[in-house]
Amino acid sequence: MEEISTDILVIGGGLAGVLSALEAEKSGLDVLIVGKFAIGLGTNTSLGSFFTAANSRFSKQDHFDATVKAGKGLCNVNLVKVLVENGPTAIGALTAYGVPMIERGIGYGIDLPAHSAQLPGVVLMKGLVERLRGTSTRLLPGLTIFDLVIEEGEIQGAFGFFKDGKPCLIRSKSTILATGGAGAIYQRNDNQRSILGDGYTLALQAGLSLYDLEFVQYYPLVLAEPRLSTFIVDTEPKEARLVNEKGRDLLEVLGISQNIQQATMTQRDRLSIFLYEASQEGDVYYDLTQVPEEAWGHFPLNFLKKSRFPFRERPFLVSPAVHFFMGGVETDEKGATGIPGLFAAGEVVWGLHGANRHGGNALTECAVFGIIAGHSAAEYARQRESPQSQGIAPEPLTRKWERKANHYLRRRRGVFDHPRDLLKGLKSIAWKYAGPVREEKFLKEGLDHLVSLEKRIEQVYPATPSELFRKKELENVSLLIRAILEGSLLRTESRGSFYRADFPQPDDSHWLKHTCYRLEKGEFKFTHPPTKPPPSVH
Ligand SMILES: Cc1cc2nc3c(=O)[nH]c(=O)nc-3n(C[C@H](O)[C@H](O)[C@H](O)COP(=O)(O)OP(=O)(O)OC[C@H]3O[C@@H](n4cnc5c(N)ncnc54)[C@H](O)[C@@H]3O)c2cc1C
Repeated sequence: MEEISTDILVIGGGLAGVLSALEAEKSGLDVLIVGKFAIGLGTNTSLGSFFTAANSRFSKQDHFDATVKAGKGLCNVNLVKVLVENGPTAIGALTAYGVPMIERGIGYGIDLPAHSAQLPGVVLMKGLVERLRGTSTRLLPGLTIFDLVIEEGEIQGAFGFFKDGKPCLIRSKSTILATGGAGAIYQRNDNQRSILGDGYTLALQAGLSLYDLEFVQYYPLVLAEPRLSTFIVDTEPKEARLVNEKGRDLLEVLGISQNIQQATMTQRDRLSIFLYEASQEGDVYYDLTQVPEEAWGHFPLNFLKKSRFPFRERPFLVSPAVHFFMGGVETDEKGATGIPGLFAAGEVVWGLHGANRHGGNALTECAVFGIIAGHSAAEYARQRESPQSQGIAPEPLTRKWERKANHYLRRRRGVFDHPRDLLKGLKSIAWKYAGPVREEKFLKEGLDHLVSLEKRIEQVYPATPSELFRKKELENVSLLIRAILEGSLLRTESRGSFYRADFPQPDDSHWLKHTCYRLEKGEFKFTHPPTKPPPSVH
């Protein structure tokens, strides 16, 4: 087993992780950043583009109001205040790191040449990672964290495996969890394939509670052609049309007079539910054949133009898809979790967005709270004596984690199901039973199907390193799907992105509450703490 020591460990190479590493490094302490794959690329951040934050036309009050309005009574107002207050400064920090930020609409975008077909998020992350490489921070891609290491109630680091199956124990004085969300646990999603909610299961298994996991945000219009990768395709030109198999204009059916891009910004939930229901009856197409030539020079159409698929000649399949998780780990305004020394930032964190996220707030959240978590983790590490001087001897810890590694790597013969097929089965249960439209009888049906898959997952015994990772994924994903199905059954109302066809209205008298998920002996225990402080407080 490889052993590494550092002052500050950052788990996750998206915007929240990379920015927290850049800020923590300024303290002069040792920083190590690890990611399942590359640091920076292959993350959800590399797919994003827009930051909502106060600018010359959009005030802090406007930002606050828009965020709380979208959150439908469930936002943690203290976190919203931190976001709003620090948004412009965080954008300034990105500019200082060399990212070409430009004021746009209600926030900021990445300033790229007019006809550039580069993904803005890729430009953002390439720039920041290059900057990180110029510091003393150690970058360790290709290490998947399986467990947080907690001793005597305090974080001591993390344990994981390299791609070749070699185990690794990292000792750290403080740790930042920045593993992103879990969109890819659904059959239809626009996330990177690796975004499977690892941070949520790491937190649950370390004894932390999670909150509001049942709130999943959908993006209404994502490419659904089977041979193409998923890609958000809403566009500005008014000539773009959304049609069903019979050629009927679906925005007309819904009575929406905005262009498609405006509708996806302002009526995301309504459009997602409608398109989900329409797709149960037949295919839904996006038709760009009437879009004039000049519009194809701009992003994202110029990106589509590069594909071999004839986007300009024929309508193509689209579908709503899972986009973002509002739920997650609880932190305070300094990014601290309930475990001393463990901080969290980015999509893995719960609270700010309430029942639905306002567009552009996720990247701003990563920037603002990534910076804060970096400072907090550095401060904690600086004040903390080394774990050895606190009586935690290195040898017993090593032996403990060697035993754990052997347990993970133990090979046994068993019933053989291909992990890929099982993962497909899990994703399909998530989409069918815990997707945009939920209902008691289907949620229960989903749980029944899940039980039979869970039994088959138990009997997957990894024989190769790759199967070791697949088995862990299956366990994580099935746990999260169970959480969402069970949590959704309890919430008997509809609010924000959460829609129960059997309870289609919000119920403020009973449900201005959060759902708290706690894992006890492998079973979820639920409580429903009321929101605090009231959303009207500013
Ligand atoms: C297509 C798309 C477009 C979007 N556009 C926007 C937008 O324009 N504006 C906006 O505000 N939001 C947008 N979002 C949302 C936003 O991009 C994400 O919420 C945000 O980027 C999440 O950043 P993060 O740093 O928390 O995690 P990510 O960027 O997802 O990075 C997570 C990192 O954690 C690593 N990791 C995960 N598990 C482990 C593990 N077990 N061990 C080690 N490493 C691990 C991953 O490999 C990855 O490096 C978009 C999302 C998508 C999918």
